Amino acid sequence: MAERTPVIAGNWKMNTDVESGLKLVKKIFEFSEGVSGVDKIVCPPSIAITSIAQTLAGTSIQVGAQNVSANDDGAFTGELSTSMLRGLVSHVIVGHSERRAMFGETSDQVAAKAIKAADAGISPILCIGEDLAVRKSGKAAEYVANQLEESLTGYSNWDSLIVAYEPVWAIGTGEAATSEQAQEMTVVCREVVRKLAPAAADSVRVLYGGSVNSGNVAELLAQPDIDGALVGGASLKVDEFSKLIAAAGSS
Ligand code: PEP
Repeated sequence: MAERTPVIAGNWKMNTDVESGLKLVKKIFEFSEGVSGVDKIVCPPSIAITSIAQTLAGTSIQVGAQNVSANDDGAFTGELSTSMLRGLVSHVIVGHSERRAMFGETSDQVAAKAIKAADAGISPILCIGEDLAVRKSGKAAEYVANQLEESLTGYSNWDSLIVAYEPVWAIGTGEAATSEQAQEMTVVCREVVRKLAPAAADSVRVLYGGSVNSGNVAELLAQPDIDGALVGGASLKVDEFSKLIAAAGSS
């Protein structure tokens, strides 16, 4: 069985400004720099990426973006390219359910972004997950497998990929998936990777995301196929986020 370093990634979404973001990372650094054996990632809003990347340079905390364009440059108002992000971020979230639902991102577009990011040396954290109606229909596994396979169309840089299983019904609701549900679905994700790239299946990291907090993280991380967490709300609280890092790593 491949050794997989756990990941704790914080998705700040459209929260904080540059000043409060800097304060937050300084505190996270203070509380978690002594913890090793875990990849610690913060994904601030784009406007704060440069100053946060400069502040965290040389520390164990990595910076990610929340989105990236699949285009190189040109008339794409409001977008950021991989060449703008390269050197500042190590990771980028692609296909978050909020982008799929509110901005109409399709799995084809997500695949193009993931490929573009990986080609630029930026690891995609590729999100997939079913909504409540799909969960209630009993077809969550099939839905997630299809969504992930479509979101990986043409993808080949397997070493760089991180998958995040994030059931939409668990995001920001305080109602996390049970560890059994999360384990079952992370296996579904891993099996999709096995189908597309058999050699990568046991080494690809598959995270769970959706209302992860210091009270449920240990049980989630104890599952054999859950390699960490993508965290929204709790990533904005120094105390909580530091506890998640501590739970995944060792000091
Ligand atoms: C997310 O948005 O990726 C997320 C997991 O949010 P929360 O932790 O707040 O549910």
